[in-house]
Amino acid sequence: MQHKRKYKNIEKQIKETGEKQVSTSDPESRHIMVRGSVSEVCYNVQSTVDSKNNLPVDYQVTNQNDSRAMAGMVKRAKSMLKHNRFTVLFDKGYHKGKELDAAHRLGIKTLVAIPNTPKSAQAPNPDYNAANFNFDPDSDTYTCPQGNIMTPSKRWYNTNNYRFRQYKTTACGTCPVKNQCSKSINGKIIHRSEFQPAIELNKYYIDKYPELYKQRQAIVEHPFGTLKRQWGFDYVITKKTMEKASADVGFMFIAYNLRRLFNILGRDKLQAFLEAFGSLFFPIFDKISYKWAVKRFYNTHYEKMLPINFYMYLPRQNTF
Ligand code: SF4
Repeated sequence: MQHKRKYKNIEKQIKETGEKQVSTSDPESRHIMVRGSVSEVCYNVQSTVDSKNNLPVDYQVTNQNDSRAMAGMVKRAKSMLKHNRFTVLFDKGYHKGKELDAAHRLGIKTLVAIPNTPKSAQAPNPDYNAANFNFDPDSDTYTCPQGNIMTPSKRWYNTNNYRFRQYKTTACGTCPVKNQCSKSINGKIIHRSEFQPAIELNKYYIDKYPELYKQRQAIVEHPFGTLKRQWGFDYVITKKTMEKASADVGFMFIAYNLRRLFNILGRDKLQAFLEAFGSLFFPIFDKISYKWAVKRFYNTHYEKMLPINFYMYLPRQNTF
């Protein structure tokens, strides 16, 4: 009876909030796909790591999958740096047309790994997959491997996340390779998303800079390998609410960055830096000009010690 009441309450909560899930251990954690078909009730940590020193420079704790995370992290990076002259590297879990489009609109170059074409979208003979058809942006048509022109539908169709148009040709009816090209008796139909230009631009960069993409894992595994495997931080200690989990993760990154700075700069330089940083708080006690303290800090230490002028950003998922 007690269980029944408990589940009735959960049902009521779902109906009232419109949420699809209720977590009974932590109200803000959610059921998230971790890798492949493996899922957990957890939070998801997105981080931004600079490629020069492997220092995490930003992070965000969320309760959503990676597929919606890229544009937000890239926007934050742009706002921190106050420019868009950097390149971002992501694994295939982040490959989503809408996110790529948003990043490109910010003027940021993306290299996001391209996932394999799902079996359901493959042609009987992979040589006839839509990716092998030529698109001409001027005429807004595809040319199929048999040399036939595929024209777009007049109307746009809607899915939950994007709009698309259909491209087809009447030549499919008499095509000698139709059975290799399409499983449909009506012939081939290509769905072209409104975000396809961004998807194609990303592919262009991936093909053009293969050696750059290979660096992704080496850069991002540095902090996460240390935090999770070496130091055992694969969970958060503080329970309940994203804000508290975020504070936990923040402490982990601070510890990591201090350790990393110790290795990069050496003890003496780091000590001098921290002393200078501490002097920023003198005005509170000594009533000296805060502006003067900040100026002294930058002039004497900051720029000389951390000349970071090129960044690459590598958000990734981690469960805690
Ligand atoms: S089935 Fe249609 S799209 Fe495919 S090769 Fe033949 S004519 Fe071209």
